[in-house]
Amino acid sequence: RAKEERGNSFQFYSREMSVRALERAELEIALRRALDRKEFELHYQPKVDGVSGRIIGAEALIRWRHPDRGLVSPTRFIPMAEELGLIVPIGDWVLRTACAQNKAWQNAGLPPISVAVNLSGRQFKQEDLVESIALVLAEIALEPRHLELELTESVVMSSAEQFISKLEALEDLGVQLSIDDFGTGYSSLSYLKRFPLHHLKIDQSFVRDIVTDHDDATITSSVISLGHSLNLKVIAEGVETEEQVAFLRDHHCDEMQGYFFSRPLPAGEFAQLLRMQ
Ligand code: C2E
Ligand code: MG
Ligand code: MG
Ligand code: MG
Repeated sequence: RAKEERGNSFQFYSREMSVRALERAELEIALRRALDRKEFELHYQPKVDGVSGRIIGAEALIRWRHPDRGLVSPTRFIPMAEELGLIVPIGDWVLRTACAQNKAWQNAGLPPISVAVNLSGRQFKQEDLVESIALVLAEIALEPRHLELELTESVVMSSAEQFISKLEALEDLGVQLSIDDFGTGYSSLSYLKRFPLHHLKIDQSFVRDIVTDHDDATITSSVISLGHSLNLKVIAEGVETEEQVAFLRDHHCDEMQGYFFSRPLPAGEFAQLLRMQ
């Protein structure tokens, strides 16, 4: 009897596995075609100035409009795209689309802002990264300072020595560099000082409970002080409530981003918001 049960549970387990494997294989095939089929879109979330509350930038966030599954979150397909190497062509599309959109907003007479794109590890390691970014900026005639690149700590810190020259080349190009999800990975403080960075983004996991959790409040205010002493602007992400805004203002956080101000919006709606202010 025990044997039989074990047998069943094994069968159940393997069926579960194969369903998941099948789903994965299906997703992989669809993902390989998604770029050609123009199924990706970018949404833009405002970044606001901590003091004036004005929109000073946006983060471009990719969405996948899957024909049957609807809107698929990047957390579901970016890791797979990274594994498959598809992140390189997808990332090129994101960069080009975000820069072209920003230029179109400027041409339409909207106040100039910088638009940030997220760079994955695999993209950052591309040998011709700096040249290809320079080419996109030149083709679109977008000033480099209106482009910001968000890199996670793990990307920046992994074999840091090898990458510092790449960061310096990006700095020379004139684009802005941010560390995303700061505090969730491992950062060497000496590297933080040496790297040509402009922004630290405090991860939303710290911001979430700043009002109720003493530790998160301490971490957040310490990161703001650390950033300022390294001459970096600090931005808080995942800001959802008025109380969080008050705390961040009191602690001189330079910029904020989160649902309290706006969710990520399709380009047209973002432009309306920018025009209104
Ligand atoms: P991220 O770069 O840290 O982006 C912030 C995420 O927090 C976004 O999720 C955003 O929609 C969400 N968010 C913004 N405000 C709030 C808030 O107030 N509360 C909460 N709970 N969440 C908020 P999203 O769009 O699902 O993106 C998730 C992650 O996927 C991003 O994290 C980024 O790591 C990655 N990603 C998105 N687009 C791209 C892309 O074009 N390329 C690459 N390589 N990665 C991307
Ligand atoms: Mg980001
Ligand atoms: Mg983040
Ligand atoms: Mg994140």
